[in-house]
Amino acid sequence: MGETKPAWPYVELSGFDAGFSEEERTIQQGVHRFAAQVMRPLGRELDRMPSENAYAPNSPFWDFHRELQKLGIGPGIEAGVEARAAARLESLVVAELGWGDVGLAVSAGAGEMPIRAAFASGQKELIDMCAGKLGCWAATQPDRGSDGLLLYSQERFPGSKGNVGNLYAKFIGEEIVINGQSSAWVSNGTVAQVALLDIAADYGDGFHDEEGNTFGCNVIVPLDIRGVSRGKPLEKIGKRPLPQGEIYFDNVRVPRRFAVATRDDYPSKHAMAWAHAGTAMSHIATGLARAAYELALSYVNQRVQGGALLADLQLTQYRVGAMGARVEAIKVMARHVAEYTKISPQPHPYFTASGKAYCNSEMFTVVNEALQLFGGVGLTAAYPIEKLLRDARSMQIEDGENHLLFMHYGFLMTRLNRFEAWGQS
Ligand SMILES: Cc1cc2nc3c(=O)[nH]c(=O)nc-3n(C[C@H](O)[C@H](O)[C@H](O)COP(=O)(O)OP(=O)(O)OC[C@H]3O[C@@H](n4cnc5c(N)ncnc54)[C@H](O)[C@@H]3O)c2cc1C
Repeated sequence: MGETKPAWPYVELSGFDAGFSEEERTIQQGVHRFAAQVMRPLGRELDRMPSENAYAPNSPFWDFHRELQKLGIGPGIEAGVEARAAARLESLVVAELGWGDVGLAVSAGAGEMPIRAAFASGQKELIDMCAGKLGCWAATQPDRGSDGLLLYSQERFPGSKGNVGNLYAKFIGEEIVINGQSSAWVSNGTVAQVALLDIAADYGDGFHDEEGNTFGCNVIVPLDIRGVSRGKPLEKIGKRPLPQGEIYFDNVRVPRRFAVATRDDYPSKHAMAWAHAGTAMSHIATGLARAAYELALSYVNQRVQGGALLADLQLTQYRVGAMGARVEAIKVMARHVAEYTKISPQPHPYFTASGKAYCNSEMFTVVNEALQLFGGVGLTAAYPIEKLLRDARSMQIEDGENHLLFMHYGFLMTRLNRFEAWGQS
């Protein structure tokens, strides 16, 4: 007698994926174990701690970073790997870190920004300065949030000039003099040992070019030097395992060679750093969406209402099906933007931004619906889903507020159509 129903499909732990190599599967499963055994328990513990204790020298936050070092997935893991394969590897690793804890995943990613920039510069002095240190990326300031992500003068309000913000560099001879403060949102800001600054710069002829755009620079700054001080770690609703706070710079002087991008190459390097952050945010959203989905699936397979397991009621099956399709779509979009960004001859951060906004807004829909499936208990600290909702909320603003990112993408597409005739064939 032949089988009368189709076999269950082949699935990987990340869902409907086919064609993984043995190496990819081994790496994914190794990072998944780390996410389940180290990140989840530490993330939940940190989530409940007041921020004044959460990142103190002996806190679980540092246990996470010690264990992460041992895992050996830092910058360099992709060295020698072909670009498409590197994009895929990154997608598998970062999504699992997001599945474990999105706050800790961002701490790990932001922590690498200075050393990645140092590697890209090829300067040994900078690589040595960043090696083994926790980093941060300071790009936003109290008066320069979304404005810092605006790349074209036509996007500014008519008559306005580029926003210099509250933290800037002056290039004087062989020195860079830095003054002002970052926003309170800099990930790892209160504890980082080294920073990659992404700020406005005056090279001796003011902060603006003839079109009113600000000149910029990327500078690597060790944070134990004279003139640097910190704010208090933020108390916030989500991503509580991630320390965030201001960094103040009072006449901080570093040699000019610490700049990894200056006047002419800054626009392209700024764009690439931002695109890198956007792809990571898309993968992290992939992991969080799947984490919430798994919690909801397990719950509906336990909870009885309407005379049956929720999972056996057709309305639930519809809701779970619609969520599951989103979980897969988020994953595919994240991989698509990451691959395009790594292998295109001319990537663009506004496309990456569209991926960040899409993956994160769809992810929020999934996490919100997952909590809805829990009913009242989902709102309580007895179940982990409420933490995921709080974490998901902050990701709608992080690394660029979603509406603004779609707006930038819309600007790009209208220009591609008008000036490059894209879509007119
Ligand atoms: C969890 C988290 C982690 C972060 N990590 C970092 C980090 O590591 N480093 C760093 O430098 N920063 C970081 N940030 C800061 C983040 O990039 C900013 O919060 C974000 O870019 C938005 O800026 P803002 O908060 O100043 O909001 P604003 O820019 O003040 O925006 C407020 C509202 O105004 C709207 N708005 C703004 N401009 C326009 C416009 N031109 N037209 C119409 N509407 C507009 C926005 O859409 C938004 O709804 C982080 C933020 C979060 C939440």
